[in-house]
Amino acid sequence: MDLGIAGKWALVCAASKGLGKGCATALAAEGVHVVITARGAEALEATAAELRARFPAAQVRTVAGDITTEAGRAAALAACPQVDILVNNAGGPPAGDFRDWSRETWIAALEANMLTPIELIKATVDAMAERSFGRIVNITSAAVRMPYDGLGLSNGARAGLTGFVAGLARQPRLASRNVTINNLLPGPFDTERLRSNTAANADRAGRSFEEAWASRREANPTRRYGHPDEFGAMCAFLCSAHAGYVTAQNVLMDGGAFPGTM
Ligand code: NAP
Repeated sequence: MDLGIAGKWALVCAASKGLGKGCATALAAEGVHVVITARGAEALEATAAELRARFPAAQVRTVAGDITTEAGRAAALAACPQVDILVNNAGGPPAGDFRDWSRETWIAALEANMLTPIELIKATVDAMAERSFGRIVNITSAAVRMPYDGLGLSNGARAGLTGFVAGLARQPRLASRNVTINNLLPGPFDTERLRSNTAANADRAGRSFEEAWASRREANPTRRYGHPDEFGAMCAFLCSAHAGYVTAQNVLMDGGAFPGTM
């Protein structure tokens, strides 16, 4: 299926690895030009080189910087001639007990997982409406549907973004101008973050990484982890010309782990 977005420009935040990289890859495969960001320049350049080699029709630009800072966001926006597609992503907050979190800990989580996406939406969405095309996908978490014990910072900050988006996406001045805003909710995907979180949890519980990794895998109905390419394919579809009637939605990708009927 031709997704009908070749030649568009996408800003894909936090995309040198993992789910962000999966989204950038799927978009570049469609001929979308991408600006990808991450803090670490080495992995970012390696990902850009891989995308350029695999998808010569796509221009690939890199911006090394922290997307949760004003300077990082300004640099990312400046590198993108026009933002037709925005994929919001950043690292997840640390696990822990809320009794140990200071106000600063909360502010950092809100900056990364709620306020940064909102700032980037604010910077791009009205121009999208003027051009009668815009696609925004926020990478959130299955925790929005089913909170994870110990990940209160993520549960809270992402729920805040979700509530905000639910209202904004339905504004007729956006929805009637072919601008969609959706959230993509990952369950367990095989990425560096999930591996390092699993290792830390296993350590705390006195288990081996292998044991903890296998037990989480076996707990999922699919008996496997998701692959970032699968996540990217869903993101690219939500960004496609065909998905103009899908907005204000929370799309859960968790291999069926959420046990509800709907
Ligand atoms: P990952 O494999 O660790 O990749 C994270 C990517 O984001 C890297 O490219 C990293 O590069 C970049 N990044 C992190 N913080 C950044 C910042 N402040 N500014 C710019 N770039 C930044 O993580 P992932 O598993 O793909 O997770 C992506 C998001 O999905 C996270 O918010 C995570 O909590 C959430 N999530 C993941 C899962 C899962 O199973 N994987 C499940 C639920 C939710 P640098 O470190 O070089 O900046």
